[in-house]
Amino acid sequence: MSVMATPCFVANWKMNKTLSEACDYLAHLQQGLKQEACKALEMILAPSYVILAAVAEQIRQLSLPIALAAQNLHHKTGGAYTGEVSGTMLREAGCRYVIIGHSERRVYFGETDAIIAEKVAVARGLGLVPILCVGESAEERENHKTELVVRRQLQVGLELSNSESASSRSDINLSDCLIAYEPVWAIGSGKTPTSAEVEQVHCTMISCMKSAGVLEERMPRLLYGGSVDEKNIATLMKEPHVDGVLAGGASLAAERFMTIMELGRRAKNL
Ligand code: PEP
Repeated sequence: MSVMATPCFVANWKMNKTLSEACDYLAHLQQGLKQEACKALEMILAPSYVILAAVAEQIRQLSLPIALAAQNLHHKTGGAYTGEVSGTMLREAGCRYVIIGHSERRVYFGETDAIIAEKVAVARGLGLVPILCVGESAEERENHKTELVVRRQLQVGLELSNSESASSRSDINLSDCLIAYEPVWAIGSGKTPTSAEVEQVHCTMISCMKSAGVLEERMPRLLYGGSVDEKNIATLMKEPHVDGVLAGGASLAAERFMTIMELGRRAKNL
């Protein structure tokens, strides 16, 4: 998406934070968030399923400009799937977004590109905005397969044509999606690609979507995720096609997340 897209900051709490810890976090945000940041940025928190509805209520009570994401959903809309959670339930719990295809889901829970594509489709059908995660493993990077892997995950995940010649499907609208480029080797490792490498992958994703017939104004926003912190955020956000970040570890303390948002906002001159 263009440099003018509203920058988006996603805090993926993973399997962290009880409800009381989440409420403390929100109280810190209420005290520390700057007006400029609230106007210029989009903030998204991704708590665990069990506290989603209560966090939504707390956000409402505190009048905070924060949207909620779930960290996953089931690819069916309902039925006999013990232990699973549907998109409809997430909507009702107050979610606008849902993270899909995080590498921890792919690696630890065996989620395939095909299942992920079903999840993206079901989420969109229910009016949830998918945050589709893609990214190569360390081995794939060493074997120079980054571009290949990211293209495949994007094409399958978004059900795009893999034709190199721009197809006639110029009606594809992905502006209701977010894509997070998250190299698996960078998640939680303290290692990151250079900002130029991130920009290159983002441009590859744009060219892949253009080839499938997606028009410029219908592109999704492109985020980067993987060991984002206070030291690297400004450099990353200065890249023209980095529209925001998905942060894990560094988002767990409200002060750190606010610093990351503030430095990101300034990097975009907002
Ligand atoms: C993530 O969980 O998607 C992530 C990017 O984590 P971290 O920031 O800790 O690398």
